[in-house]
Amino acid sequence: MFPEFTLCYSRLPERFYERFEPVPVREPHLVAFNRPLAEALGFDLAAFDAEEAAVWFAGNVVPRGAEPLAQAYAGHQFGGFVPRLGDGRAVLLGEVTDHDGRLRDIQLKGAGRTPFSRGGDGRSPLGPVLREYLVSEAMHAMGIPATRALAAVTTGERVMRGIPEPGAILTRVASSHIRVGTFQYFAARGDIEGVRELAGHVIERHYPELESKQGGERYLGLLEAVQARQAALIAKWMGVGFIHGVMNTDNTTISGETIDFGPCAFMEQYDPQMVFSSIDEGGRYAYSNQPWIAQWNLARLAETLLPLIDDDSDKAVERATEMLQRFPVQYEAEWLGVMRAKLGLEQPQPGDKALIEALLATMHRGRADFTLSFRQLAAAAENPEAEAALVALFERPEEIAGWLEEWRARLAQEALNESERAQRMRWVNPAFIPRNHRVQQALTAAMDENDFGPFETLLQVVTHPFDDQPGREEFTLPAEPTERVFRTFCGT
Ligand code: AMP
Ligand code: MG
Repeated sequence: MFPEFTLCYSRLPERFYERFEPVPVREPHLVAFNRPLAEALGFDLAAFDAEEAAVWFAGNVVPRGAEPLAQAYAGHQFGGFVPRLGDGRAVLLGEVTDHDGRLRDIQLKGAGRTPFSRGGDGRSPLGPVLREYLVSEAMHAMGIPATRALAAVTTGERVMRGIPEPGAILTRVASSHIRVGTFQYFAARGDIEGVRELAGHVIERHYPELESKQGGERYLGLLEAVQARQAALIAKWMGVGFIHGVMNTDNTTISGETIDFGPCAFMEQYDPQMVFSSIDEGGRYAYSNQPWIAQWNLARLAETLLPLIDDDSDKAVERATEMLQRFPVQYEAEWLGVMRAKLGLEQPQPGDKALIEALLATMHRGRADFTLSFRQLAAAAENPEAEAALVALFERPEEIAGWLEEWRARLAQEALNESERAQRMRWVNPAFIPRNHRVQQALTAAMDENDFGPFETLLQVVTHPFDDQPGREEFTLPAEPTERVFRTFCGT
């Protein structure tokens, strides 16, 4: 069933990982399988059998050609440095080459205790596995770079998280699992050759355009390239109200893909200070902090590259600092691009930022639902009568009515016709996001009643975020007060 492996990470020096085989589970059962992704990865599905697939995706049998390993990495967690984290419950089976010729990691998450597990059990409960499955696939469907979910299996075993919960394993696919924390792992050991080797691997894999660069330019170029991807990524998060929740350096990829969907959540009522994660007491990873945390994480990456940027450490610091200081401007350009599109603006104008900020401030004061407001704005772009539904989302209708006048005046300066504009706005303003209460309902049904129907329905809905889905209107709605989710948990 598995495609041929194109091994890559396991060719790196031994100190980059620990070889480790998944620990078999008692009774694997396939509960979700991403057929289109499997096809794109070259899986042979002609004789697909769910029972057989469960055995593979549980790690009970290691596919031919795989060389399973747990990757070493370090990381700043909530600002505090941990020199050795590593895959404590994930196993990289190896890489495969997909239909577009791109290398993709195939990893089993929850596959047993590895040499990096410390006190953990190496396992995952079903809830977080399904949550990651739903949210990562929704992000992908919204055009936001993210790791993918290929399969989920239950293990027939219980994991203890205060109370016993059903165990599960997620098969995760990524263009790589290399993190800022992977660089930090070697830098923290004074292993400059390790950093150099890792950088070479990353350039070959993610940034081949840097291959021709020599000396310090190569590493400065790497910082620049990762910075550009992170700026673009965070702008996209902000555009859909996504709050990652644990933007530690070990959860920040070098590829620019969203990774680790632990306590992440989507905002409903717009509030820039919004925090959902129960462990983020100080609000370090609040919605509006995300760009500056990304910059902070990039500074940690830059530190690891300093000895390679210039032998003269003062010069290296100066060059890296110059690069990092460009982040706010790059980020703002990305963010303006995202937000202009959401407002239906094609031709940049100097007043756009103020117009966007005025809308957000109005949403904040009016306690309006972020996702619904933008989707209704798309409707209003085409049909002024749809404005009433938009205005009804705001607690201060007169404020949004005033803003809409300004917006219409601004649209009058654009060339595009109204229905084309509304269509483009619908392609960037999702109708369906994985609303927290819906995710919670789907997880609860699966965990408590072994009923995967709600999970399957929600998955279907959120993987077509931009389509109007007749009959699914209830999934566009925010939580009722009694359904509202205020806190999310890592639950790992
Ligand atoms: P995460 O919160 O998933 O980003 O994980 C942070 C660190 O804790 C990583 O090194 C993980 O491998 C490790 N970890 C998380 N959960 C477990 C677990 N159940 N068993 C062992 N290690 C874990
Ligand atoms: Mg992590």
